[in-house]
Amino acid sequence: MIKDTGRIDAASILLNLTDYRVITVTQELAGRQVLVEPIETEAACPSCGVLTTRIQARPVHQVKDLPAGGDDLQVLVRKRRMACQEPACERRSFVQTTEQLPFRARITTRLSQRLVDEMSCELRAVSRVAAAHGVSWPTVMARLTTVGELVGNVDRMFIRRLGIDEHRFRKVRYALGRTGKVVRIEPWSIVFTDLDTGKILDIVDGRRGTAVKKWLKNRPRYWRQRVQYVAIDMSAEFRKAVRENLPKAKVSVDHFHVIARANLMITQVRRRRSHEVHERRGRATDPAYKYRKLLTCNLENLSIKQVERLKLILESDPELGVIYGIKEHVRQLLKTADIHEFQSRWAVLEKSVKATKMTEAKTLFRTLTAWRRELLVFVRTRLTNARSEAANLTAKNLKRIGRGYRNHGHYRLRILLYTAGLRPC
Ligand SMILES: [Zn+2]
Repeated sequence: MIKDTGRIDAASILLNLTDYRVITVTQELAGRQVLVEPIETEAACPSCGVLTTRIQARPVHQVKDLPAGGDDLQVLVRKRRMACQEPACERRSFVQTTEQLPFRARITTRLSQRLVDEMSCELRAVSRVAAAHGVSWPTVMARLTTVGELVGNVDRMFIRRLGIDEHRFRKVRYALGRTGKVVRIEPWSIVFTDLDTGKILDIVDGRRGTAVKKWLKNRPRYWRQRVQYVAIDMSAEFRKAVRENLPKAKVSVDHFHVIARANLMITQVRRRRSHEVHERRGRATDPAYKYRKLLTCNLENLSIKQVERLKLILESDPELGVIYGIKEHVRQLLKTADIHEFQSRWAVLEKSVKATKMTEAKTLFRTLTAWRRELLVFVRTRLTNARSEAANLTAKNLKRIGRGYRNHGHYRLRILLYTAGLRPC
């Protein structure tokens, strides 16, 4: 039986480069060499669009391609420089292009695609991927930048629920400024997350309120009008920036940060009491110091032995007992998803704060009062920034793999691509 394979021969099928056929395959000293040529003999002039078959020259170029049957394969392309036969056209000649090898391309589209896939599929150093495919570092980075510009365009995304959070992605650095003075470089980055998908939208360096304000201001009006909820930590600067730039958004405060404040309050009281009672800082012989971590743990997670120890500490110092009670009230307050329940728990908290004279408790309560509206939004929506914590981990791993990053743009790009979910694997 004769099977019609058209103009395609066995070598062309093996190489599997769309729109090209293999002319020769030779064994050279440096390795195998394959010479290919576009199948299509006719091409349209890019200026006038008139088809031509007249060949002016056949330049041969070497291109990079995916490895076929081993790494030692060199791909040479015999291109066609065509002559435009339209008398009215100004262009005299042009080089035939294909989908796999666009104008002036030195690497095939399929290799380019592979580079992007490998970089966004797993956390790998750019240099490693470049070396594995025999291309240079800037080649890989340029491909990533192109894709990043497409998928990383925040303004094209429909964001209903936005998360704004701060992460410490790098160490504090000091550099010599223009005036000759040493300048401290901000180690904090602000992460914007789509809370519906967990996708990182952007990472910006800079000071808290200013950076957020600037970023939000740069978004188009329709984008800002769509945002309904924003989750932030208890930062007045963030809140102000959101209120000014996202008119329709309701602000929700992340309960994680509220609990952190309550725990800080306990620590402050413990330290103050140590100075009042012992006139020194805590020591391992003081039960309240030795078991200080129990004070900030969730009660329901403690073992029976730990609960007994905690009881001992709380009974030994009435002030610690009271402040611990207040912290638990704060936790109860945020546990509920019911507004009425929230109101009654708020009343209990308020009563217990009023009954004490401790300034630490009063300060915390004042802060909570200032954030009451945002706490209510949290109770209704349970919106948190927990998903951006995952990005924090990704960023840390990425830094280890890349042996550090000096260019924030590259760093940002890698994180965005990794969390964008465009990888097929
Ligand atoms: Zn033409």
